[in-house]
Amino acid sequence: MSNIKYIFCTGGVVSSVGKGITVAAIGRILKARGLKVAIQKLDPYLNLDPGTMSPYQHGEVFVTQDGAETDLDLGHYERFVDEPVSNLSNVTSGQVYSEVLEKERRGDYLGKTIQVIPHITNEIKRRIKLLGKATKADIVLVEVGGTVGDIEGQPFLEAIRQMRTSLKRRDALYIHVTFLPYIGATKELKTKPTQHSVRELRSMGIAANVIIARTDHPVSKEVVEKISLFCDVDEEAVVPLITADSIYDVPLMLEDSGLADYVMDWFKLEPKQKIDLDGWREMVAHMDNAEETLTVGIVGKYVELEDAYMSVKEALVHAATAHDQALEVKWIQSEHLRKDGCDELLKGLDAIVVPGGFGYRGVEGKILAAQYARENKVPYLGLCLGMQVMCIEFARNVLELEDANSTEFDENTHSPVIDLMIDQRDITDMGGTMRLGAYPCVLKPGSVAGKAYNVDQIEERHRHRWEFNNDFREQYQEKGMSFSGLSPDELLVEISEIVDHPFMVGSQFHPEFLSRPNRAHPLFEGLIKAGIDRRDSKGAKKAKSRKNTEKQPDKTAAQGTD
Ligand code: GLN
Repeated sequence: MSNIKYIFCTGGVVSSVGKGITVAAIGRILKARGLKVAIQKLDPYLNLDPGTMSPYQHGEVFVTQDGAETDLDLGHYERFVDEPVSNLSNVTSGQVYSEVLEKERRGDYLGKTIQVIPHITNEIKRRIKLLGKATKADIVLVEVGGTVGDIEGQPFLEAIRQMRTSLKRRDALYIHVTFLPYIGATKELKTKPTQHSVRELRSMGIAANVIIARTDHPVSKEVVEKISLFCDVDEEAVVPLITADSIYDVPLMLEDSGLADYVMDWFKLEPKQKIDLDGWREMVAHMDNAEETLTVGIVGKYVELEDAYMSVKEALVHAATAHDQALEVKWIQSEHLRKDGCDELLKGLDAIVVPGGFGYRGVEGKILAAQYARENKVPYLGLCLGMQVMCIEFARNVLELEDANSTEFDENTHSPVIDLMIDQRDITDMGGTMRLGAYPCVLKPGSVAGKAYNVDQIEERHRHRWEFNNDFREQYQEKGMSFSGLSPDELLVEISEIVDHPFMVGSQFHPEFLSRPNRAHPLFEGLIKAGIDRRDSKGAKKAKSRKNTEKQPDKTAAQGTD
């Protein structure tokens, strides 16, 4: 019998209480004890993956090293645990049903009626166990998406219930993350929704062993005792988790709550090393003690939902922290940028990021942002589409190719400076067919990017169909754009930069996925460093707050699905 331990994490009461971050933080404090941790998210929707969903529906699509398009919680897992995740770490109902139906067509179940139990649940269990085996993990942490009571989540709950029966009793631990609402009139936290949710979970055959009670207010000992009594959970297994200033506080808060010790006791595991969270504590202290504020504008079209740019924002936080800066993010709706009104929205920024995106909506605004950054020498980092718009802008305004465009937005342009990749031309299916995952890139020595990375070759994650059109390379180079990162065969532009500019760099890949809280990404660090230089040359601003802050996006901005 395998001795992999499994932690199953479910949610109750309401969604959006940070279950993914909680799970990632649990992973971190267990890793701090020298254990090998693997994390998996079970998503109950029927899409095969979130790759074809609108960011408004789903937030960011996180791309793994092996090219899977996955839930944004996997980004938290990688950033907190600092172990690469793979396509095995995100299981959707769509994948499970599709696998079972394929087997049915092949005749694998000949003679049988295919049912949710056992066929669907068996496939879910197979995928959970596969992750443990493939990663040789000591502990597999499984997060079930959604909240208990969702109809579509039921096969997943049934599967994790069954998992216990095939394991030794103490090799499975069930953690339920709930929420304690605060009633202003009586100034009290209510435990009733938690009690109901735990009961609902029990009606599915799962008894919670640990309850993490998310809340915005301090939790008294009486409340903890009450939850313990009514929910039949040890008192030390009721863990109140107050909303933190920064998500990076959460592992430390959970460590201080004694949760990891409870988990280790439960599994009868001994730590393999002295608890190693010193580096993490130091990093959080850096975040707390920043004395100056750096203002970075993120110009995108999904800015009403910050989750759409999760990794980009976190990468900026990491880089700002590395330079002892508090980060102020200004979310700028690219549709609001107009030729005559750019200044108003962009002035005062120390740096600009134009992140990835699909479809024409908002593109002209991003092109204007690139023009503003180039002309005013504002540090600029373009990510995927952000690199493409930087090239389109350069063509229109420097090369004087007036109708320059990407064929994604104008198939009939006379100057298709960004064009569909050759191997994308015959593809008709939308799902999982982009150029995805890690590819190598050779850096030009002495370039801004080359100096930032300080190595000859890198590997970065991609998610795109269009690329820089090599027919135009020479023209660009003559007029001051340098292609400082190329695929090893030199056929694909991976990084472009403007020579006569302190930092104007675009990458065809997504560096944001490789940034870690205690290991900021070189390109983001380069941007922040250039932003600091620019700001300081204009006179330092005082820090606005002790924490990284953000400005709320304009809620009136148009919503759309493209
Ligand atoms: N739409 C562009 C492409 O497919 C950019 C993609 C992106 O920004 N991820 O090439």
